[in-house]
Amino acid sequence: MSDDQSVLSQLRGTVGEKHVLTEGQATAPYYEDWRKKYHGTALAVVCPANTLEVGAVMRLAQKHGLAIVPQGGNTGLSGGATPSGNARQLVLSTRRLNRIRQIDTANDTVTVESGVVLQTLQDVARENNRLFPLSLAAQGSCTVGGNLATNAGGTAVLRYGSMRDLTLGLEVVTPNGEIWDGLRALRKDNTGYDLKQLYIGSEGTLGIITAAALKLFPHPVANLTAMMALPSLVEAVNLLAQAREALGPGLTAFEVISAPCVPLLQKHYPNLRWPFSDPCEVAVLMELTDHDNEAHARDQLERLLMRSMEAGDVLDGVVAESVAHSQTLWSLRESISEAQGLEGAHIKHDISVPASAVAQFVAQAQEALSQAAPGARCAWFGHLGDGNLHFNVLSPAGADPMPFAARQNEINEIVHDLVVHHRGSISAEHGLGQLRRDENQRYKSPLEMALLRQIKSAFDPEGRMNPGKVIA
Ligand SMILES: Cc1cc2nc3c(=O)[nH]c(=O)nc-3n(C[C@H](O)[C@H](O)[C@H](O)COP(=O)(O)OP(=O)(O)OC[C@H]3O[C@@H](n4cnc5c(N)ncnc54)[C@H](O)[C@@H]3O)c2cc1C
Repeated sequence: MSDDQSVLSQLRGTVGEKHVLTEGQATAPYYEDWRKKYHGTALAVVCPANTLEVGAVMRLAQKHGLAIVPQGGNTGLSGGATPSGNARQLVLSTRRLNRIRQIDTANDTVTVESGVVLQTLQDVARENNRLFPLSLAAQGSCTVGGNLATNAGGTAVLRYGSMRDLTLGLEVVTPNGEIWDGLRALRKDNTGYDLKQLYIGSEGTLGIITAAALKLFPHPVANLTAMMALPSLVEAVNLLAQAREALGPGLTAFEVISAPCVPLLQKHYPNLRWPFSDPCEVAVLMELTDHDNEAHARDQLERLLMRSMEAGDVLDGVVAESVAHSQTLWSLRESISEAQGLEGAHIKHDISVPASAVAQFVAQAQEALSQAAPGARCAWFGHLGDGNLHFNVLSPAGADPMPFAARQNEINEIVHDLVVHHRGSISAEHGLGQLRRDENQRYKSPLEMALLRQIKSAFDPEGRMNPGKVIA
């Protein structure tokens, strides 16, 4: 029996025959990323059912010198969960680690396994009259483990923070199969270095996260959405400051949509109605939650809208009249990514700069791109409240998108040099994966890279955890 066959047979003995996938049709979805940009292969896809099985799989992989590619819902946007072409790898899928272990409403915490789908966690929290606030368009299929490994952000970071802020403890299996039980649901714990924060955002390069203790929050009584048309991004940044002052912690989301996104939505999603008849440079989607009642929230929001219209910061606005109306407004925001995909090849950037620098960054990037690629469409949108824009660049309307897409490296450099000039980040919430690994190295100092490599080799001395991702 070859070594590979022996490993497969031992894996089947460990997790069960039908949880080791090797056939083409069964493995295909695991070997390609969500955007269909990255493709790979592996010896098998292994689906352990619990932490002990994960430990056993990791020990087997170590014994046979196999690398491990952790995968949750496979919705990541940086190619982090896709194996490379090297067949001496196993994809370890966490889909069967899907239990809610404990909900503690007195402590406002929930302990879940890493394969739990984000939406399931939100539902469980709601059933217990609590809120788990992480919210993003892939929530129906992404997993808590993937959210942790990429430090996911989404639409409520402004109020609740990203996955780092929502996590109290972790359980992790190390590359040699040991189990670290750090599932401490504590809000105060200053006992030295914070290991969990190293695993969060490590994109599967340090170990397998098998469970997490997460924060819960009181469920708001009312939830109100408004959409506003603005003359430019400068007014949008002003409005953000005013909304923060007027609405305080009730302001949970502050999203922007640039004008070039609108025709893409109208073309690819004609059923979604854009609420404004006159054109505008920027639309803001705002969400306010309230722990008193809806009338109070509506009054606050309408007063802000009125003041901003009088000041000329806002041209037009609509406050959702019902849950369905609010969902329609959110659908516009959440369909942009898909509409851009349907439009054809485009060059994506997931950047952040301080909110105070966003308008200047966008103006400079648009100017630089108009020189380098006349007619290119900068169709940006995203989480202005966090200074995070998905600054996506499409080929000139009607032009063949492929020659434009081939200029990706040049366009990336123009955009990312400006981001770094404003002391921003070239990956605000999607992680580095394969997509941004080398660019990250270009922008980080030699000292920072050396420290990061030391962390990697301390946790994964044999370099078997998700090779080729995050760090070269
Ligand atoms: C339509 C759409 C909208 C999105 N919107 C947002 C958004 O608003 N904000 C945002 O932050 N992200 C967004 N994302 C990307 C986001 O990173 C993912 O949706 C999600 O966090 C990844 O979870 P996943 O389970 O799919 O992880 P995967 O894609 O399976 O994996 C992502 C990374 O995590 C690693 N990993 C997965 N599970 C584990 C584990 N248990 N232990 C160790 N490593 C692990 C993988 O190796 C890989 O490196 C969006 C994606 C899509 C498709």
